[in-house]
Amino acid sequence: MVLMEGLSLAKKIKERVSQDVQKISEQGIRVGLGLLLAGENPASQQYLRATVKACKETGIVPYEFRFPEDVSMNEILNTVHNLNNDERIHGVLVFFPLPKKLNSRKIVNSIVPEKDVDGLGSVAIGKFAAEESTFQLYKEGFDPALARQFGFLPCTPFGVLRLLEYYNITIEGRHAVVIGKSLAVGKPLSLMLLAKEATVTVCHKKTVNLKEITRQADILCVAAGKPGLLTGDMVKEGVVIVDIGINVLPDGRVTGDVDFDGVSKKASYITPVPGGVGPVTIAMLLENTVKSAMARL
Ligand code: NAD
Repeated sequence: MVLMEGLSLAKKIKERVSQDVQKISEQGIRVGLGLLLAGENPASQQYLRATVKACKETGIVPYEFRFPEDVSMNEILNTVHNLNNDERIHGVLVFFPLPKKLNSRKIVNSIVPEKDVDGLGSVAIGKFAAEESTFQLYKEGFDPALARQFGFLPCTPFGVLRLLEYYNITIEGRHAVVIGKSLAVGKPLSLMLLAKEATVTVCHKKTVNLKEITRQADILCVAAGKPGLLTGDMVKEGVVIVDIGINVLPDGRVTGDVDFDGVSKKASYITPVPGGVGPVTIAMLLENTVKSAMARL
C-alpha cells in the first residue's frame, strides 16, 4: 500500500508559485489574495490561518477581511465589490460555510470571474462544464490569452486530480466512484474524472446500497463529511482511495471519512488525513492566484 501524502506535492507546487511570484515582482507587481471570513467556524479559521501562512511562504500578499457572525449581506457585497476593483488583488476567496442568514451563492457570484480563484462562481462552473477550463492549460505551459478566457478550476477537486497524477494513477477507463455531490467538491470532482475519461458513478446520502457501488470502484473519492463512512468491507482489493473529508472529533483530533485501518489493508493507494488532499488544496489556490496575476500582465 502506498500512502499518497500531499505535503511533498504541495511543496513542489508552492516552489513553482514562488518562482512565478518572483518573476512578476520584477515587473513591479505584487500578487495579492483577498480572504473573507464571516463568523467563528473553527475549521474556516484554521483554513484561513493555513492559507495566510502559505501565502507568506510564496510571497503572495494576503489581505484578510474578518466579519462577525451577524455581518450584513450589504457589508460583504461591498467588500467583494471593492476587492473586484482593487488592482492589488488578483484573487478572492470566501470561506465556507458562511453564517446561515447570508446568501452564499449571491456572494460567490459577486466575485468577478477573473478573480474567482476558487472557481465556484456560476461563470467558472459553467465554463468548466462546457470544457472551457481545460487541464491542458496547466499541462502544456501557460498561455495568458487562454487563461483570460478560461475559468479557474475549484481548488479541492483540482488538487485531487493533481495528487492522482503525481502518483501516476491511471484514470482513463477506470471506474471512479465519488461519494458526495456538493458544488465545491463532489460535483466538480466527478466532472474532472469524467474529463479524464473515467467511468464515473456519483453517490450521495440518498444512494441506495452504497456498498454495492463502492465495491466496484477502482478509484474511490470520499467527500461526505462523515467520519468512518467508508469501511474495509465496502472496497475491493487494490482500490485507490482519496479521502477528502475533514472532521474535527470531540477530542480535537482531525479525521477523514474513511476508516483508515480497515480500508488501508485492501487499498493499493490511500491518502492520509490530515496531510493528504488538504495541503494540495491550498497550493492549488496559490497557483490559481498567481495564474490570475500572470493572465493580466
Ligand atoms: P457537503 O456537506 O456540502 O456535502 C456532503 C455530500 O456528502 C453531500 O452531497 C451528501 O449527499 C453526501 N453525503 C453525506 N452523508 C452521506 C452518506 N452517509 N452517504 C453517502 N453520501 C453522503 O460537504 P462538502 O463541502 O462537499 O465537504 C465534504 C467533506 O470534505 C467535509 O468533511 C469537508 O470538511 C471536506 N472538505 C475538505 C477539503 C480539503 O481541502 N481537504 C475541502 C473542502 C471540503
